Amino acid sequence: MKSLTMMEHKKVLVLGLAKSGVAAAELLHKMGAFVTVNDAKPFEENQDAQRLLKQGITVICGRHPEDLLDEGFELVVKNPGIPYTNILVADAVKRGIPVWTEVELAYLISKAPIIGITGSNGKTTTTTLLYHILNQGGLNPLIAGNIGTVACSVTEDATEDNVIVTELSSFQLMGTEQFKPKIAIWTNLYEAHIDYHGSMKGYGDAKFGVTRNQDATDYLIYNADQKIVAEYASKSNAHKIPFTTNGINYLGISADDDMIYWLGKPFIERSIIALPGQHNLENVLVAVAAAIIMECPKIKMEHVLSSFTGVKHRTQFVREWQGRKIFNDSKATNALATRSALAAFNQPIVLLAGGLDRGHSFEELRPHMSNVHAVVVTGETAGRFAEFAKSCGVEKIAHADQMESGVEQAANLSNEGDVILLSPACASWDQYPTFEIRGDKFIEAAMKL
Ligand code: ADP
Repeated sequence: MKSLTMMEHKKVLVLGLAKSGVAAAELLHKMGAFVTVNDAKPFEENQDAQRLLKQGITVICGRHPEDLLDEGFELVVKNPGIPYTNILVADAVKRGIPVWTEVELAYLISKAPIIGITGSNGKTTTTTLLYHILNQGGLNPLIAGNIGTVACSVTEDATEDNVIVTELSSFQLMGTEQFKPKIAIWTNLYEAHIDYHGSMKGYGDAKFGVTRNQDATDYLIYNADQKIVAEYASKSNAHKIPFTTNGINYLGISADDDMIYWLGKPFIERSIIALPGQHNLENVLVAVAAAIIMECPKIKMEHVLSSFTGVKHRTQFVREWQGRKIFNDSKATNALATRSALAAFNQPIVLLAGGLDRGHSFEELRPHMSNVHAVVVTGETAGRFAEFAKSCGVEKIAHADQMESGVEQAANLSNEGDVILLSPACASWDQYPTFEIRGDKFIEAAMKL
């Protein structure tokens, strides 16, 4: 950790605890700041707050006092999930008090270069794949984000010999000011989180935070196949590395049916890649580009690419059962993610879908429904998804209340050579506490077949 005096005696409010708030509060306290944390959970039930209090940190729990900022805070560090409509956040913005997320702190204290990965989809997969590649290459990476630990905790112990690989959500990036990764990766931009950002522009502008402060000594690897991302990239001062799966590109990384090309020259054969699906090819391209920039030996990249089959719950291969291949894509909590999963297979598909109803349409899926010959629907959207599947010409439609019976029905509806795929296109909260638990139930049921 860099020794910084900038936080000494600074009055900082940490808003919202959970993993990121606790890490930020502890770090700021160590840096000599006067830290107050404010969390909605009452003190008696709030173990994090109890622990922080013991360390000498001021805690205010169970409510968000509207006049809290009158106490003269100079900085607010908020949990990324707290929206800007929150009364204290809105007040801080009005008063001109900087509002950060822990990512900004991570950047400020980090001795190690940072590779920051953002995009609507593919962050966790790319972060994990790149971490494994750099690890094989002996580059001492440290992983931060959804998988692993909060970025500011990871950077605390990092040295110049490490490299931090971290995924970054738009929520996190909105709370950055000086954040400047050595390599920024922008996988794609789809309509999402409009409720938080207010508009697609607000969402895109937040994502642009990954490259806003970069200069010509840094790199931006971006999706040249998506006009909106390419337009944002054109405003970046970083050294730009476009990626495309639509033909050879001489300025960046690209792929055709057989090969991955670096600067237009054949680099790695696609046949060695173990990750399934076109969307994952994009994730592979960006990870390879970043590994090349980090001077990772090619043989190490190939080694990982031939063995890495994906992250749990993301088009994860579960097992083969009587000639059927079963995949768990429980992380597909929106139609766009399910679209990628459907596009990944050429075989006939039995799809398990449905979950929390946010009123979103499933139309995005229509062009990719041609391989789906049977559907098992569940959750709040069961009826709507069944209607949609019917309108796409799917003949076999079954309803299931439980995962186990759903998987059994899917098995009954399937033929040899089929793919059985859980890719719900909906969040899980109507039936399960998390998408991970939904995926685990699916795996359990699939193993029982
Ligand atoms: P994130 O961390 O951004 O949510 P994940 O790597 O966890 O992304 O993948 C979530 C889902 O998004 C996967 O289940 C897959 O269906 C889809 N997906 C993954 N990578 C991509 C990509 N590059 N483009 C489009 N969809 C993708």
